[in-house]
Amino acid sequence: MNPKELLNTTFDCECGRSHHVPIRKLIYAEDALERLPEVLGSLVEGRCAVVLADPRTRDIAGRHAQEILEQSHWSVRHIVVPPGARLDTGRGGPVCDDTTYDWLNARLPPADIALAVGSGVINDLTKWSAFAHDVPYVVMATAASMNGYTAANVAPTLNGVKTLVRARPPLAVLATPSVIVGAPFELTAAGLGDVMAKPISAADWLLNHVFYGEHFCRYCSEIINGLEPYYLDRPADVKDRKPAAVEALFEALLYSGIAMTIIGTSAPASGGEHLLSHTLDMLSSVDGVPHDLHGRQVGLGTLFASALYDRILRIESPDYSPVPADIDSTFWGSLAPSVRQQYEPKKSMLGTMREKLTDGQTWQSFLAACRRQVRSAEQIKKCLRAAGAAHTFADIGCSRERLLAAVLHMHEIRKRPTIIDLAWVLGILPGAAEEIIDCWLTA
Ligand SMILES: [Zn+2]
Ligand SMILES: [Zn+2]
Repeated sequence: MNPKELLNTTFDCECGRSHHVPIRKLIYAEDALERLPEVLGSLVEGRCAVVLADPRTRDIAGRHAQEILEQSHWSVRHIVVPPGARLDTGRGGPVCDDTTYDWLNARLPPADIALAVGSGVINDLTKWSAFAHDVPYVVMATAASMNGYTAANVAPTLNGVKTLVRARPPLAVLATPSVIVGAPFELTAAGLGDVMAKPISAADWLLNHVFYGEHFCRYCSEIINGLEPYYLDRPADVKDRKPAAVEALFEALLYSGIAMTIIGTSAPASGGEHLLSHTLDMLSSVDGVPHDLHGRQVGLGTLFASALYDRILRIESPDYSPVPADIDSTFWGSLAPSVRQQYEPKKSMLGTMREKLTDGQTWQSFLAACRRQVRSAEQIKKCLRAAGAAHTFADIGCSRERLLAAVLHMHEIRKRPTIIDLAWVLGILPGAAEEIIDCWLTA
């Protein structure tokens, strides 16, 4: 089933659940901007819109979108979100945090619909604020940079902690192919890093299914499988910005967001590999050192996690080691209390994991399920390198020491177990961390 056929429908899935796709339209066409009045008009009754952009995306499409709507007798207000006040991302763009959210909420005018023109941050800020004001929203995407367009959640930094906030997905996603293909290349490469996480996220989802009985949906876990050959088997096409590869990448990002929306959690597209990116973002909020784009950091996390899977899937009869009883509060400083809140409930889950390791059946089911999902670190490395995406710590502006500290603490920030926790329970971490960094993340 192509997800496009499921827009605005509810269907019974083979996983035993009924799934709903609340997104009504996905439009990837050169005339996407010109179709805005027709699309928005089909979604809401009124004719009052607010257009949100950052200075860069205002120039690319925001101003034009406003003009086109006004020509069709829409009343349009606009907001240009300035660069982040608290944090400089190193790229001078806005950030999705509580400060910017408050700033935006104070300015959002009454409207029938909000239109986000931009990528990750503008989409998240608009989704978050529109949800708070109970206004539907639509996004005009400007880059294939991450999978959040079609997701229901927002991932802001609140008081320095990377958090997931529940909101509502957009009613429609529109994009102009020439804008997506022509976006700054690092954004496209970041999008590749974000979808490369899928084999690991799917394996970590199965880990939670096998060890803890978490609901697993094969349809959602395989939703982008048909698109993967376009960029995973031909990564140079992404580097060369071949339209077919960029379109497949963009669709894969939209579909993996839809999978998260359907399931209601980030499980289909986020596992242990994402923890590295979240941890680096959190460290930035503590020490002010800039972090890189989400998907670029996720690419490195995926390499690290797949190197762990390479080792773990070779173990025929597992043994376990004691895991740290508490988080490293010196390391987390002011963030320690909120990190501990996540780690505390995980401790009993790690106990369950250890118990289940002694029963050979669970381990064999885990091996059989995950061996079909994961890709080797070697394959991930080749793909990131050939695509011109970030694959070393230097690429993401991080020192070896900072990266090592992040990988050794990243399991502490979320209560849901992942391959990173399993590696600790099996005694592979902390020992293997430096070797994996030297082998896969250095050159
Ligand atoms: Zn992601
Ligand atoms: Zn399902």
